[in-house]
Amino acid sequence: MRRVLILGGTGEAIAIARMLHDEMADRVEAISALAGVTQSPAPIPGTVRIGGFGGVDGLAEYIQAERIDVLIDATHPFAAQMAGQVHAAAERTSTPRLKIIRPMWRRNPRDRWIEVPDLAAAAATIPRVEARRVFLTVGGRSLQAFEDMPGVWFLARMTDAPPSPPPLANADYVVARGPFQTDAEIALMRTHAIDLLVAKASGGAATEAKILAARALGILTVIIRRPPSPRGDAVADAEGALAWLNRLLEG
Ligand code: NAP
Repeated sequence: MRRVLILGGTGEAIAIARMLHDEMADRVEAISALAGVTQSPAPIPGTVRIGGFGGVDGLAEYIQAERIDVLIDATHPFAAQMAGQVHAAAERTSTPRLKIIRPMWRRNPRDRWIEVPDLAAAAATIPRVEARRVFLTVGGRSLQAFEDMPGVWFLARMTDAPPSPPPLANADYVVARGPFQTDAEIALMRTHAIDLLVAKASGGAATEAKILAARALGILTVIIRRPPSPRGDAVADAEGALAWLNRLLEG
């Protein structure tokens, strides 16, 4: 039996855990690791471990103590710190590692994108383009960058209910977890008369509906570029991860 540690927090990580459980349970024991930031994480088949490991040292110790044979880094494209730590711990312990890298959305000539390097640049764009009603899809923990913007109203979507007091005073909050449908995204943006969408360049089909909706409505979209991923083996999705793992175990 090989022990596979899936670093999770994404739909792909859940899909991989499910596939390993359904299709490879005779050869593979999967452990899914979550940072513990979501109050009510979606159910995941197999063993689930919640909480950080304590940097590269802690993760390397865990890999050795738990006799982990394979690492699958299915963290979110913006979880750059963890991606670097998984890479470093894999090198230190000589453990094979795979990174899931979602394909970036393909830009369409009708898209009105402004690409920026980070959250601060995204916030600075709002007064520059004179946006008044802004849909924030950057996640609940990235909202501080949008504080202190008089005259701007926000619709902020997050996985967990906002704390009290909420991070932004001049905002309404939608608590919802994707994937979302394009028609519903169009309706949401229309209902709230959104004139600017702010999105992280997460890529992948599951998060694309908002981009397609903004395209359909001609809404200006601020795209925050992805941080670079560490080098090494990478695939686009859960199916690719399963094929990689099968090759590794057969080799
Ligand atoms: P991060 O900045 O890269 O990592 C911060 C710390 O969180 C890491 O040093 C690690 O703590 C811990 N951590 C991160 N992912 C973990 C995992 N899968 N299992 C155990 N510990 C983990 O990460 P983040 O951006 O805060 O993201 C946290 C989680 O939310 C990740 O699982 C990610 O997949 C998910 N997520 C992030 C975003 C986003 O926009 N950043 C969006 C959707 C989902 P130690 O050093 O103590 O090990």
